[in-house]
This record gives sequence, structure tokens and C-alpha cells, in this order.
Amino acid sequence: MRKRMIAGNWKMNETYTEGVALAEGLAKELADGTGDVDVVVCPPAVDMKGVAEVIDQQNAPFALGGQNVYWEEKGAYTGETAPNMLTNIGATYCIIGHSERRGYFGETDEDINKKAKALMAHDIVPISCCGEPLEVREAGKHVEFVVDQIKKDTEGLQITDPSKYVVAYEPIWAIGTGKTATADDAQEVCGAIRKTLAEIFGQETADGIRVLYGGSAKPNNVAGFLEKEDVDGALVGGASLKADSFAAMVKAAM
Ligand code: PEP
Repeated sequence: MRKRMIAGNWKMNETYTEGVALAEGLAKELADGTGDVDVVVCPPAVDMKGVAEVIDQQNAPFALGGQNVYWEEKGAYTGETAPNMLTNIGATYCIIGHSERRGYFGETDEDINKKAKALMAHDIVPISCCGEPLEVREAGKHVEFVVDQIKKDTEGLQITDPSKYVVAYEPIWAIGTGKTATADDAQEVCGAIRKTLAEIFGQETADGIRVLYGGSAKPNNVAGFLEKEDVDGALVGGASLKADSFAAMVKAAM
């Protein structure tokens, strides 16, 4: 049985001060707990320590995640963050392969695969993003495009505990645009992702891996996605920047 997950990607929003206030607001909104739903917030790197302190001090029912990582352990990699720097401040998740990193920063599937291996070696759960651009969707090639990403991103991974690897399907045309995929669109691709994971890792492992939907998910539409068999939660951008709307999405998943 897969636990649902609602993860917030703050992207490059919220200064340290604002991020701490947002985390405090979320801790209040979720003070009664999150039931059986795993909740993760992924602030900008410079906010993470402050959010970790809020989680600790308020015993908040959400986990901390990074938005990016580098695969080397340490050294002359200006601007990068190593896996043990994430664990050292209490992060247990990390987004990798977000379409903004692929698009603006040239990240390849090979990079994403190395990042997943580095995170897993440090017991950090990757939230590995995939998803097609509009022209691929319009050409009707979205399933094969995403299946190809999944095969490359997971190459050589050893998944012993399927709860510790998460995939997020985020069609690029639906991110931050207000255009959502329909729940059936999400199911079509999330189902294909699970089938591919089963071919690679075996059915039992694939059945334990959470597959999230992301792309203009909001309090008023998240329940429709969650009804679908292969959609186990949401990766949320814009709607994670307000404590009440993000908490409403968590409550919709409970
Ligand atoms: C995202 O970037 O991961 C995302 C899903 O953004 P939004 O919810 O704003 O579309």
C-alpha cells in the first residue's frame, strides 16, 4: 500500500525570513497532523536550515527536501550542494530533474541518474521529475517520451525500499501555466511510468514506488488526480507558497 505524498516546490521564491514564516504558517495549519499522508517542503537552499529549525522546534508534520544536489561528495564545484550537506541539516528528500533545471541549466538524464545514485547512497529520497514539452504532447508521443526518460533516469539504480524512490510526472506545458492536465491524462502517463518501473525493477517494487502528478495542481483539483489508480500524490509549485492552500491540498489527500 503506497502512502500518498504532497510535496511543495518553492522554487526560487521566499527569502530566508519569508521561508521561515511560511514554514511556521504551515506548521500551524497542519498542527492536527497529516494522517497517512507524507508531506515534504522543498525550499531554496539558503532557507533550508531555517525551515529545519521550525520543523524541529514545532514538531511539524512535514519533512524537508532540497530542490537540487550535485553528485560529488565535496570539492571545487562552486555553487553546488553535496548530498551530505543536505543530510547534515535534516533533509530527507530532494527533487531532481525538474524541467526548469533540464531546460534552463542543461541537465541531462545522465546527470539526473548520477544525482539519484548519490542521493540514495546517503539515504535521501529522490523525487525524480519527468514530463514532456507541449510539442511532444501535440504529436501524441508523450508516453514514449516519458518512458524513455524513466529508463535513462533509473539506469543501474538499486531500489531495495520502494518507498524511498519517488517519481513526479510533470507535463511541462502544465507547469506554472494554469493549464492542468486532466486526471485521465495524468493516469495515462503515471500508469505507463509504473508499467516501465515494473519492467525494470519487478512488479512488487513498482507497486511500492510513489508516482506524483505536478502541473498547476491546486486545492480545487487535487482530489480528482488522487482518485486515479496510479497517481499517489502531487508535486506542487505555486500553490505551495501559501500555507493555507498547501495545507488544503494535504487535507484533500488525507
Ligand atoms: C512544479 O514546478 O513542480 C509545479 C508543479 O509548479 P506549479 O504547481 O506552479 O505548476
